[in-house]
Amino acid sequence: MTSLKRILVTGGAGFLGSYLCEKLLEQGHDVICLDNFFTSQKSNVLHLLGNRNFELIRHDVTIPIFLEVDQVYNLACPAAPGHYQFNPIKTMKTSVLGAIHVLGMAKRCHARVLQASTSEIYGDPEVHPQTESYRGCVNTLGPRACYDEGKRAAETLFMDYHRANNVDIRLVRIFNTYGPRMHPYDGRVISNFIRQALTNEDITLFGDGSQTRSFCYRDDLIDVMIRMMNHEEEGFVGPVNIGNPHEFTIRELAELVVELTGSKSQIVCKPLPQDDPTQRRPDITLAKEHLHWEPQIQLREGLQKTIDWFRSIRLSDYRPPTPRY
Ligand code: NAD
Ligand code: UDP
Repeated sequence: MTSLKRILVTGGAGFLGSYLCEKLLEQGHDVICLDNFFTSQKSNVLHLLGNRNFELIRHDVTIPIFLEVDQVYNLACPAAPGHYQFNPIKTMKTSVLGAIHVLGMAKRCHARVLQASTSEIYGDPEVHPQTESYRGCVNTLGPRACYDEGKRAAETLFMDYHRANNVDIRLVRIFNTYGPRMHPYDGRVISNFIRQALTNEDITLFGDGSQTRSFCYRDDLIDVMIRMMNHEEEGFVGPVNIGNPHEFTIRELAELVVELTGSKSQIVCKPLPQDDPTQRRPDITLAKEHLHWEPQIQLREGLQKTIDWFRSIRLSDYRPPTPRY
């Protein structure tokens, strides 16, 4: 039984953050959700507002804030390519200043702080599957760099605060995750394909669809994120890859979405965006060995749950956060 804690979730109104807040509240913790609502809507946390252990703060992590907490999950950052490329300088500030501010808070409060890092720190990887020891292949000058390099700098800051100031950190590298409450206009592949399939629009396959990704269902991901935060093992602070190691081509994904939705949509090819990684699959040996975790929900089952959720919402209730989706 873990003791009850005051927990800050930055980016807590987002796709992953809102589900994390929900799970932490279920465990009885006091949860502060901090968000500037750039890529999310209040509807994600509306159902939590009546909970007396839940507090919602509208705030931007690029500005310092003083709170007293025991744990911080740092998720605030636009995550979809169309979102993080909309204002790339702001994206970099969010990762770097956001990290400095939560680390400063953790240092002051003696709190433990977990960074939501990403498989993007591996860039377009030459090593496959990706292990945590692989240092990555990122184009520092490309359109994805604001996100990739911002997240890499945040990892560096976490390690330096840990080594220099003894801050209690945890680093997780999240691979592509999907599920209910993804923003339907975030432009990510699963939300695009499901939205397009349900409205019988063309399914936009970028390139020839031979690039691969490995998709993890939200519930599996949040389970391991909480495990890592509470894991007590001398010297094991991460980074640890978290994701589902089953790899699919994007064309296979498109075909599966058409099959599961019974859609009449056509799959049409569009230009591949610059620096789009050609392959991605996590090696999750460390997560298995140290956290005794592996994903339980495979793509077909997770997609069905996600499609059911997309069918239950009204698209007109959602405002695209940025013009590209
Ligand atoms: P999301 O866009 O739904 O959530 C991000 C949240 O952060 C949003 O609610 C947004 O409004 C908020 N935010 C953005 N900038 C902010 C700022 N300056 N101040 C305060 N709040 C801000 O995306 P998500 O998929 O839930 O991602 C959550 C975290 O997980 C991100 O840090 C992302 O980089 C990381 N991650 C996600 C995935 C994935 O596949 N979902 C993969 C790798 C890493
Ligand atoms: N993609 C696609 N059609 C879309 C959106 C994305 O074919 O409508 C491709 C994209 O080029 C990439 C993969 O799907 O190869 C995953 O894209 P996403 O933006 O979801 O995540 P990331 O590239 O950051 O892994």
